[in-house]
Amino acid sequence: EGVLYVVATPIGNLEDLSARAGRILSEVDAIAAEDTRHTQRLLRHLGIERPLISLHEHNEAARVDQLRKRLADGAQLALVSDAGTPLISDPGFVLVRELRRAGCRVVPIPGPCALVAGLSAAGLPTDRFTFEGFLAAKSGARRKQLEAGASREETRVFYESPHRIRDLLEDIAAVVGERQVVLARELTKTFETLLDGSATELLRIMDEDPDQARGEFVVMLAGAPRREEAADDVEGTALIQAMLA
Ligand code: SAM
Repeated sequence: EGVLYVVATPIGNLEDLSARAGRILSEVDAIAAEDTRHTQRLLRHLGIERPLISLHEHNEAARVDQLRKRLADGAQLALVSDAGTPLISDPGFVLVRELRRAGCRVVPIPGPCALVAGLSAAGLPTDRFTFEGFLAAKSGARRKQLEAGASREETRVFYESPHRIRDLLEDIAAVVGERQVVLARELTKTFETLLDGSATELLRIMDEDPDQARGEFVVMLAGAPRREEAADDVEGTALIQAMLA
């Protein structure tokens, strides 16, 4: 029976590739990769030589039929992206959806994912959270997206590149003001940094140390105060006022 393994790869530190992921990558008939040159470097490091098939957002739909036929013939295939877990702000959704619709077996090989790594070290509530990926490139649209979720009580998680990190923080400051933000930068890499503060405070830190604006970011924004807590506050205030009267 053919299988598509969806394999998570490191987000920086190559030691994070799981033993199972390494074994699967060395055993499959071919590996579909977002950027074959990038994946080739990883495979060379692992001492693995397997045929690569390019699969990116522009040819994903066209590749579906080809890969489905190979699976029907009993092939074992892997899907990887440049970093972390495929489909998470990365290609693969259309392929996985169509293969599953066609009755193919799809098996996840879990591993690194920047959003989960960031949340696991941020100290923000994780019982519920919203992953919003990359927000719009233009500030106006981005502020609308930030506003649309501004009253949500759960933690909100965004991905951002170094090009726009300051713009995103400026928009967060404008839309939600002083709320706590945790920035996870360069996770698992040499310059891994976790910073905590309001968006305005984080911008000030970047003014003083421009290196803090470099690299890849997971941006985590505390949710709006929970309604029960907000209600408690109101009751508490009323009680204090009654006692003072
Ligand atoms: N599929 C990946 C995953 O599982 O996390 C995400 C791919 S997405 C195209 C790339 C974005 O993920 C970056 O712009 C950044 O927001 C985040 N990211 C990836 N690696 C990271 C790292 N080492 N530290 C912080 N953020 C990272």
